[in-house]
Amino acid sequence: MFRSARIKLTAWYLLIIMVISVFFSLLVYRGLISELQRGLRVQVMRNMSHIERSERAGEVPPHEFFQRSPIQRGLWVVPPFDSQVFEDAKRRIALHLVYVNLGILGISGLAGYFLAGRTLRPIEMMLDEQRRFVADASHELRTPLTAMKTEIEVGLRDKNLNAELAKELLQSNLEEVDELKLLSDDLLSLSTYQKENNNREFENVTLEEVFDEAYGTVRALAQEKHIEVHREFGDITLEANRQSLIKLFVIFLENAIKYSPEGRTVNLTAALKKNRVVITIQDQGIGIRASEIPYIFNRFYRADASRSKNQAPGYGLGLSIAKSIIDIHDGKVDVASEPDKGTTFTLALPLKHQKKFY
Ligand code: ADP
Repeated sequence: MFRSARIKLTAWYLLIIMVISVFFSLLVYRGLISELQRGLRVQVMRNMSHIERSERAGEVPPHEFFQRSPIQRGLWVVPPFDSQVFEDAKRRIALHLVYVNLGILGISGLAGYFLAGRTLRPIEMMLDEQRRFVADASHELRTPLTAMKTEIEVGLRDKNLNAELAKELLQSNLEEVDELKLLSDDLLSLSTYQKENNNREFENVTLEEVFDEAYGTVRALAQEKHIEVHREFGDITLEANRQSLIKLFVIFLENAIKYSPEGRTVNLTAALKKNRVVITIQDQGIGIRASEIPYIFNRFYRADASRSKNQAPGYGLGLSIAKSIIDIHDGKVDVASEPDKGTTFTLALPLKHQKKFY
């Protein structure tokens, strides 16, 4: 598909270039021909004045001035310009212009093919990414759906299915439905935050209120695992999109809790540095291997499946959503982690939002 699109785009480039080139060649051709005619006419005039001068002096003009030609001038025959020379010159000019145009056609064909490839490359990459995303999402959707289908089929075939067994089955199905909802919520968030939307409202928000709201969402999980979340920051206000900043804190806090063994502590700090606020979220959890750190912000990536997947639910979408939110705020994120010791995420967000125009 991309090959034919590349060829079509090259053909369009070529068509445009050739229309321009042929148009200018015609202008050049006409210009040159009329200049040539003018030059030859001037020469004829000069010849005539030579003849006149010779007539006045009673001399015979040099014979190259009147040897071949139909224009009658006094006693002598004055040649107009040499039509053979003129026709030859016309043909040669036309031929030169044809060569130039063929050269332009060849060079712009190659350059056009190269440029068409470069123009289409980002689109091709985006489509590949999109395809991979759809494949990954479908794969993740299939797992709970298949589990539900199997359970329902087994239940329907069971002749001894009583109310109690049916309740168990529904309970299990509900868990799968919860998983599906989690996945669809994450997918929706991802698409929302990845949209280049400059209508998003930015307002002054305090870190304290954002933290409080975010912590409200993860409190139950923290309590269940007896994990304490300490925060250490003063009165910091920044210009941000409130809802997305809360979501960002939820993602990092939830991960810190999810990937920590019971009874550990999560520390949150924030400090002002120049015109930025630097926030750290540090946990004493299972950590991430250095080789896996470059991939954790990729969609659907879950580090070391055997450890993290068994420990915590999730689809590997949280950090990609977080990255999109950080990008919306023109921020940066860094990760430092040591397996079995813990992980520290460091975010740097500008205090003032720079409005972008797309
Ligand atoms: P999810 O948590 O749903 O798997 P994320 O995108 O939030 O997806 O995280 C991607 C992966 O990065 C996780 O699967 C986990 O392996 C790793 N990870 C993220 N945060 C932490 C953390 N605080 N401690 C250890 N590993 C983490």
